[in-house]
Amino acid sequence: MALTGIQILKMLPKKNCGECKIPTCLAFAMKVAAGQVDIAECPYVDEAVKETIGEASAPPIRTIKIGTGENAFTSGGETCLFRHEKRFENPTGIGVLVTTAMDDGAVASRLDNFKKLHYERVGVLLKADLIAVKDVKNDAASFTTLVQRVMAEVTTPNLVLMSDSVANLSAAAKVAKDLKPLLYGATADNAKEMAALAQELSCPIAVRGKNLDDAVAVAEALLQAGCKDLVIDTGARTIRAALEDNVVARRSAIAKKYKPLGFPTINFPCEMTDDSLMEAMIASVMIAKYAGMIVLSDLQGDTLFPLLLERLNIFTDPQRPMVVEENIYPLNGPGADSPVIITCNFSLTYFIVSGEIEGSKVPSWLLIKDTEGLSVLTAWAAGKFGADLIAQFIKKSGIEEKINHRELLIPGYLASIKGELEEELPQWTITIGPREAGHIPAFLKEWKPAKK
Ligand code: SF4
Repeated sequence: MALTGIQILKMLPKKNCGECKIPTCLAFAMKVAAGQVDIAECPYVDEAVKETIGEASAPPIRTIKIGTGENAFTSGGETCLFRHEKRFENPTGIGVLVTTAMDDGAVASRLDNFKKLHYERVGVLLKADLIAVKDVKNDAASFTTLVQRVMAEVTTPNLVLMSDSVANLSAAAKVAKDLKPLLYGATADNAKEMAALAQELSCPIAVRGKNLDDAVAVAEALLQAGCKDLVIDTGARTIRAALEDNVVARRSAIAKKYKPLGFPTINFPCEMTDDSLMEAMIASVMIAKYAGMIVLSDLQGDTLFPLLLERLNIFTDPQRPMVVEENIYPLNGPGADSPVIITCNFSLTYFIVSGEIEGSKVPSWLLIKDTEGLSVLTAWAAGKFGADLIAQFIKKSGIEEKINHRELLIPGYLASIKGELEEELPQWTITIGPREAGHIPAFLKEWKPAKK
């Protein structure tokens, strides 16, 4: 059960030394209880207490890592049922399947798609995360060779190694052990050997149940054997069953603190249909409802991109708008006579406006004012994008040293503050720009500095 701040405080050394970068032990204890700070930040807590507090303050769905280094994939860590209650923590991992039954060309094509289908949106890199390698021939040699090939062709891949044979899995996992692959999967029949392998290689292990009850029994066996990092496959291979199991598992873990289901889930849309559009639709349902990771048969831009966008939307923190830094952004190599455009720091606004300016090829200075992530009109209505604040920002931004004119282009939606802004910035000409970002290129191409 989760500990309260006061219970945690009783276990702290109470030096109030501030070495944890929090002024008092009480404040530190409260933050640990809220899951905002790791207990390990206090250097004076002994290991036994760290373990007790760490376990008690751990999220009801355990955080699991697959892979190593910066590219490692993290799943789980979830603390709520609904995004609006707090936020979802770790986006659903999207994986692609390669198997030992596929010919060279098919494997090459899937790996190639995995490497090249990357997208940037609102400053975030969107891409698939995992490669599932499956031993369908029940042959250690071909399985190990395929794992080696994936490792050679993809830089530090996050691997899911799938085999019915513990011996085959052991051979392939030993080749890839430095990459900390997910070992798939433990069943009621092989749980003991699989647990021993996962512990020997310090790898996470997937439960492969025949159904939800069986998955619980296997998870309990692995937990008893000392495994900590589990991933749950309930064996569901229809959209309805997989959705039901995902919901039951999440509810049991969050609402009932039911330990055997307190782990991320893995779903296999690739095994639920042969139709690629149906597969994408199933994947979209699994992303919306609690899949820790999904495995697709192939990655195609027309289905992967919408799935990545769906994932981005669901896993964006609803309490924290996405922002870009307040700054002067030079676009297309601007000079002293280039136009100066101002807008808010809501990242979607920034990326749309900067994209249009870049597309226009007109060298420009884009000023981004901190509006706490609010869009232009909302920020103005909230008093964060008024004439006085814009004027203060212009004066301190340093833009006046970079240009030989004094004309500021403001968003069309801020037309009503033109007069006020002219009073605040008497040296400047204030020009009302377009309302819609799509009209910016034509506007800039016509723009000439106003004479004052
Ligand atoms: Fe208290 Fe430890 Fe933080 Fe010092 S470092 S203030 S002892 S919690």
